[in-house]
Amino acid sequence: MAKQPMLKFVTVERDMPEKRDATVRKDDFNEIYAEFAKAKAEEQASRCSQCGVPYCQSHCPLHNNIPDWLNLTATGRLKEAYAVSQATNTFPEICGRICPQDRLCEGNCVIEQSGHGTVTIGSVEKYITDTAWENGWVEALAPSEERGESVGIIGAGPGGLAAADRLRRAGFQVTIYDRYDRAGGLLTYGIPGFKLEKDVVMRRNQLLEDGGVTFKLNCNVGDDISFQEIRDAHDAVIIATGVYKSRDLQGPGAGAEGIVKAIDYLTASNRLNFGDTVPEIESGELNAEGKKVVVIGGGDTAMDCVRTAIRQGAESVKCLYRRDKANMPGSQRETQNAEEEGVEFVWLSAPKGFTGSDKVDGVMVQKMRLGQPDASGRQSPEVIEGADYVEEADLVIKALGFEPEDLPTLWGQPELEVTRWGTVKAQFTTGATDLDGVYAVGDIVRGASLVVWAIKDGRDCADAIIERFGDQRAVAAE
Ligand SMILES: Cc1cc2nc3c(=O)[nH]c(=O)nc-3n(C[C@H](O)[C@H](O)[C@H](O)COP(=O)(O)OP(=O)(O)OC[C@H]3O[C@@H](n4cnc5c(N)ncnc54)[C@H](O)[C@@H]3O)c2cc1C
Ligand code: SF4
Repeated sequence: MAKQPMLKFVTVERDMPEKRDATVRKDDFNEIYAEFAKAKAEEQASRCSQCGVPYCQSHCPLHNNIPDWLNLTATGRLKEAYAVSQATNTFPEICGRICPQDRLCEGNCVIEQSGHGTVTIGSVEKYITDTAWENGWVEALAPSEERGESVGIIGAGPGGLAAADRLRRAGFQVTIYDRYDRAGGLLTYGIPGFKLEKDVVMRRNQLLEDGGVTFKLNCNVGDDISFQEIRDAHDAVIIATGVYKSRDLQGPGAGAEGIVKAIDYLTASNRLNFGDTVPEIESGELNAEGKKVVVIGGGDTAMDCVRTAIRQGAESVKCLYRRDKANMPGSQRETQNAEEEGVEFVWLSAPKGFTGSDKVDGVMVQKMRLGQPDASGRQSPEVIEGADYVEEADLVIKALGFEPEDLPTLWGQPELEVTRWGTVKAQFTTGATDLDGVYAVGDIVRGASLVVWAIKDGRDCADAIIERFGDQRAVAAE
């Protein structure tokens, strides 16, 4: 049976007025919070029925051994729980924070399906690895042997980093090239800090750097260095560049000032939280403070924008989506969070254009209804004639999704095969492309996807490279 540390927290607030001094309060808080988090994790872990049909595990892209680490957590064997958890996941504390668990492990927990509320698997996973970091159980990355082969990785997002971690542990020389000034990809500059604290990402980057991974940042491949130069410098290359071309809106007024891309808006906010000077925040261009904000889109990026705008002190925040709540692509949990924070959802509404002369002052909205299902089975939105209206806005954020950049053209590599969606053609199990020694992982292969899938791809690709060169060394030794 769980303890009730939350009551203890109330006791401190109420019964210890002499402890109003900020430092004492903070220490007390940290201690009590740690105890609370431990009790909560143990309580949740002990709710696992060890059902024997771990749908949670089969619906986790990494096939994490969830029942085992829940069992170990429930019995207080946290160090062992950490060992089991990190064996299959390169960044468990990150997945624990930002996986859409309601669509993956937790959505398939048998306790959830029997109507008793899921075991909060993600928060236990986060707790286990946060505790491992606090207690120094996260070991330095120390290869048992140094190998001569080198791998160049383009892109320091979760896909590239997961591959780097595994390759470096196996002794490969690893260099990561990224056009940003900090590693982490969308973990660093896309996902907001209130969902994923940035020090959690930075300590992972540091672990890799301390373990001998070389980062070449501010290095835009195709611009500062060519793809061919990277290919020539390494025995294998992994393309892990993600997808960054924002889908756009057409219509009258679409180019007006005050209409911005979600990725620019979120990057600016994340930069500010790092303490960077961000001129677009100072000028107000990418700052929602005091504004009537309209976000267009219904996915997780749209949810991140609306919740960021609330935190920046927007006067009002509305989210326009052309289908209804039941048909939103984003996580229901995220939508609920946004609603609780004061975001107003305007369902069945699509933008037709924008009002305002130079600067936007409204979105021309067409009302929609849901018609027949399309090829994907989802009901298609249809326009309701004569129901148009204008939604007032002085900042409009376009969050309509992302597409891949045209890598064969940008990199002058017409032989790099892409699909009709522009994603790089690669084998799903190994990441191998048709170019010898060139692999691809994460969003650039799958299209906009999830962190956990990028991690899986990175790990699988690293294993394929290790196997390939392992074999070659065996042949050379004969
Ligand atoms: C706003 C937002 C919120 C999200 N929230 C979640 C979430 O809560 N949970 C979840 O699971 N997923 C979420 N996702 C999706 C998730 O972030 C991605 O699926 C994941 O980051 C993909 O990893 P990746 O390694 O393939 O690419 P990325 O993380 O995109 O990293 C690619 C890296 O490549 C670099 N790069 C690109 N081109 C070049 C070049 N030419 N030269 C050098 N470097 C280059 C980029 O700078 C970047 O650092 C979110 C996505 C967005 C946009
Ligand atoms: S990695 Fe994601 S899906 Fe897998 S157990 Fe962790 S939170 Fe669930």
